[in-house]
Amino acid sequence: KLSNTIMDLKGNIRVFCRVRPLVLDDSTKMPSTSYPISIEARGRGVDLSYNGQNKSYMFDHVFTHEASQQEIFVEIEELVQSALDGYKVCIFAYGQTGSGKTYTMMGRSNDLEHKGLIPRSLEHIFQTGQSLLPHGWVYTIKVSILEIYNDKIRDLLSMDRLVGGKKFLIQHIPKGNTTVSDLTIVEVHSVEEASSLLHKATQRRSVGRTQMNQHSSRSHFVFTLRISGVHETTKKQVDGILNLIDLAGNERLSKSKSTGDQRKETTEINSSLLCLSNVITALSRKCGHVPFRDSKLTYLLQPCLAGDSKTLMFVNISSDPSSASESFTSLEFARNVN
Ligand code: ADP
Ligand code: MG
Repeated sequence: KLSNTIMDLKGNIRVFCRVRPLVLDDSTKMPSTSYPISIEARGRGVDLSYNGQNKSYMFDHVFTHEASQQEIFVEIEELVQSALDGYKVCIFAYGQTGSGKTYTMMGRSNDLEHKGLIPRSLEHIFQTGQSLLPHGWVYTIKVSILEIYNDKIRDLLSMDRLVGGKKFLIQHIPKGNTTVSDLTIVEVHSVEEASSLLHKATQRRSVGRTQMNQHSSRSHFVFTLRISGVHETTKKQVDGILNLIDLAGNERLSKSKSTGDQRKETTEINSSLLCLSNVITALSRKCGHVPFRDSKLTYLLQPCLAGDSKTLMFVNISSDPSSASESFTSLEFARNVN
């Protein structure tokens, strides 16, 4: 085994909390709530004072506003690498719009220091794959990128994804794999090739125009690497999958003041996030029915969430007072899955 991960010892679902620093925009804005909020991150805990209540939450790890992208990657490196050992891995970013999900996953483009998990993971996978060549391991890496918007799948690597309204059918096939009919899956040979696909896909991602943030992301963004390794002499084969998921923001209906289509959108997002939470809770308690089929997202990821796969959820929160109720909701969500 390449990686001797702590996940093997501690079960397979981890929850990390990351607190976003205040950015200039927030501090110049008048708080839109009368509730004072204070978020204190220490050790593995987060204390929240909200609406006259003091609440404490514990996580597997808490990253304060000072944590750099590199510090975060160091903590998940082994998990990412386990996909080369044949594990199925899901890493989610959950939180309200503006809480730092996309920053955590993608980072800022053209800025090395601020590179997020996806570009760092790509580099790590390719480098490690290369380093195993002399040991007889030959890896094939394939990329697919899709978004789930209003419970519909859109292929972000296909030019005509919006034309013709293709129906993507999810099918689970033996050996714990999933196929999505018509989904574009591209074999990549370098970080550069994969990055250019990623760039293309992010440009196509749905952006809604809610009043909160006109670039707010209203879809779940799912970046998938299928990693197959064959050993030249022993012919041993491993099939790992790494899913990196930037979830849609968990806004409240009242706050985003959305109407009509946007209201439907928000309701749809909230119900799929609730379903994700229910699935993860059922898995972590290792009992009862796991409601994978209740949303496209969980059905799609079923083979990568069940069994001996590994799941990590980042709960992103902002310390901005106007985000108090969302931060509270996010922490409560995280408490349930933890
Ligand atoms: P989300 O995807 O959850 O809507 P973003 O990742 O877009 O939120 O973050 C909102 C803004 O805050 C962006 O300008 C982003 O660059 C910045 N930001 C988020 N997290 C951090 C952080 N940890 N350090 C510095 N800037 C951050
Ligand atoms: Mg985002």
